[in-house]
Amino acid sequence: MTALLGHQAVEQRFADAMRRNHMHHAWLLHGVRGIGKFALAEKLAAMLMCETRSACGTCHACQMLNAGSHPDLISVGLEEKKRDISIAQVREMLGFLSLSGAESENRVVILDDADRLNNQAANALLKGLEEPSPGSVLLMVCADAMKLPATVRSRCLMQHCSPLNEYDVRSVLQSRLDAETIDLAVQLADGCPGSVSCLEDSSVARALAEWQGLIEDLSQADIGKIDNWCRSNVATVPHELIIRALLLPVYAGMQEHQSRGFEALETIHEAVKGCLRWPGEVIRQSLRAAPTLLSSVLVLRAALRSST
Ligand SMILES: [Zn+2]
Repeated sequence: MTALLGHQAVEQRFADAMRRNHMHHAWLLHGVRGIGKFALAEKLAAMLMCETRSACGTCHACQMLNAGSHPDLISVGLEEKKRDISIAQVREMLGFLSLSGAESENRVVILDDADRLNNQAANALLKGLEEPSPGSVLLMVCADAMKLPATVRSRCLMQHCSPLNEYDVRSVLQSRLDAETIDLAVQLADGCPGSVSCLEDSSVARALAEWQGLIEDLSQADIGKIDNWCRSNVATVPHELIIRALLLPVYAGMQEHQSRGFEALETIHEAVKGCLRWPGEVIRQSLRAAPTLLSSVLVLRAALRSST
């Protein structure tokens, strides 16, 4: 089991529940994407099934968990090319939870993408939540808990999971990325190491580093070079990260912009909003990505210039 960082408070709460024999039968772990919620659910399942109740990694139960062969744990989630989680998947999961444990006292299901249950599936799940089988524990994971019906939410123990602090983000990324990429990755991750996993591809990392160099001082930037960069890289570098990198220096300079007065600040805010909308608009309106990115950059550049 790889070390899990940043969610000690949740682990502590779970450990307390185990110690007091007050385990809730359905936990809903929710929080932004890319912070390791699924890995956290795996760790909690291991704590419950481990012979020493510590996710030791070495006992027979932990070895089975690591090999993915523990008979008392299954994971359910969005299947490839499917838009939602089906009632058949939920029925299978509830059937599994209704059996008594083969190796341990518990049966555990990790339900990933729980915010993608369709209506029928959510209704089926609700019945299971109302009459949980003894020893069954459902660990639900999702980014947006508000997408689940209130009736489901109210029967779960809601556990919010926070983004990681910078130190933990750095530790997580250190084992995955080259040393020269780490600083940029930590900045871009903004607490969510999973959101920069594309930087493991060194060509993406190089392109983003180049982008960062080009737009560092946007009001003085070379538009020809930016245009070239957009054309060559907009198809391979995730759009959210292009924008995050673009806006980092703007946010960092906000105090300075503020001193230039309300109107200048408003212009910058509007330009920033335009940039933030761009990734979604490219998809929704089938826009050509490179020229529309360039025009967002130009609007932002003009706003920054007018404030100097
Ligand atoms: Zn163990």
